[in-house]
Amino acid sequence: MNFEEFKKEFLNNIKDIKVTEEQIKMFYDYMIQILEWNQKINLTSITNEKEFIIKHFIDSLTVNKYLEGKQSIIDIGTGAGFPGMPLKIVNKEKKIVLVDSINKKLNVIRNINERIKLDNLEIIHSRAEDLGINSQYREKFDVATTRAVSNLSTILEYMLPFVKVGGLAICMKGPNYEDELKLATKAISVLGGKLEKIENINIDRELQRNLVIIKKIKNTPNKYPRGKAKPLKEPII
Ligand code: SAM
Repeated sequence: MNFEEFKKEFLNNIKDIKVTEEQIKMFYDYMIQILEWNQKINLTSITNEKEFIIKHFIDSLTVNKYLEGKQSIIDIGTGAGFPGMPLKIVNKEKKIVLVDSINKKLNVIRNINERIKLDNLEIIHSRAEDLGINSQYREKFDVATTRAVSNLSTILEYMLPFVKVGGLAICMKGPNYEDELKLATKAISVLGGKLEKIENINIDRELQRNLVIIKKIKNTPNKYPRGKAKPLKEPII
């Protein structure tokens, strides 16, 4: 797909967000390079460009309207940069931190960013539960995001420690979100959160995105996040 074809497809699908030609070029470069790296490192199962636009870019940007007035965002378990990189491209002035436990995926994003040169972007190799006890990062963010990382209870233990009181944890969830939400009731309150909103978005015929948005209403107790992979192996239920 050449740039003009990409631009047409991208603009046909992006709805409420205004993007400049420079930003569309960044999205294009990002996609081309991820697909190139994908031949060496397993980054995404989506290799068709039209699908890539919808399932990676448009899907990631569903979070964007919740970033209005927010300055600092952390994307946990970002993998090849989703949703963090698309959100960064359309919010050049906001600080975005991308975290993942697999450094080779982050090296791809670092490499791509040498070309597209986004400022105010920090890329950190760490497990979320290790970084979440670091005072430089704990309760320092207006918003935490995750897509496809783990069940709701586990990810909230990763996410809420990073969020300031008054901020949001935005969980991008698939079809089972209601069951996950029932199981996460205790985790939400223990970690200092409150269910703020659920938004169901039909991206296309095949893809429904459910945003589960948790507001942080009090500090997360110091004993969370627990270490030794406990949030995953023994989620708070
Ligand atoms: N968010 C990306 C997306 O939607 O394309 C990547 C999803 S991938 C299925 C899950 C990612 O979460 C992996 O890259 C994995 O390394 C990362 N991950 C899982 N548990 C983690 C943890 N405890 N701390 C940091 N990263 C984690």
